[in-house]
This record gives sequence, C-alpha cells and structure tokens, in this order.
Amino acid sequence: MPSRPPNLRQRNRGKPAAKVSNWTKRASRQERGYGRAHDLMRERVLTEEPLCRICDAAGRVTASCIADHIVPKAEGGTDDRENYQGCCDPCHKVKTARESKRARARRACP
Ligand SMILES: [Zn+2]
Repeated sequence: MPSRPPNLRQRNRGKPAAKVSNWTKRASRQERGYGRAHDLMRERVLTEEPLCRICDAAGRVTASCIADHIVPKAEGGTDDRENYQGCCDPCHKVKTARESKRARARRACP
C-alpha cells in the first residue's frame, strides 16, 4: 500500500519551535501603515498614472504596477496623494535599493 511522505507538521512533532530573532521578525503590512487606506490609494494612483513616471521621464513607456512613495515614509514622506507616483517593478527595485543604502548609512552614523 503506498504511503504518503509526512507533512511538515508531522515531521516536526515533538521538536522545539524554530526561534525567530528580532532581526528577522517584521511588522505586518497593517502595522507598517499599508492597510485598507493604502490599498484604496494604490488603486487610485494606478488608475490615474497607468504609466511608470520614472520610465516616462527617461522616454520609455512602461506600465506602472506599484504605487510608490516619492519621499519614503522612513525619510518623512506622507501618505498624501502628492507623495505617490505610478512606478514599474524594475524602477521601484532600483529606487528601493538606493533608499535602503541611505537607511543603512543613517543607521551606521552615530
Ligand atoms: Zn519604470
């Protein structure tokens, strides 16, 4: 008779739960300010700006799929409509990498 491999819960039965360090624990999207109000704003931004603003400035035509904070919230940006832009995924990744680099530099300086 064929038997099924044990699922994760069965395999880990009796073992201590995996520890989650404070460094890997991340607040939920609601806790980070991305709840229902953000979802509605995202819909509005993507409807009003169907093309990526950054690509548009560079002469490219790319569909936007992300409602991006122009000034990041970590740098004092607000959730006002004026602080949002339609953005494509590649542009958002580049912008986020730059913002993360700045954030690391801020944390490194006393
Ligand atoms: Zn883009």
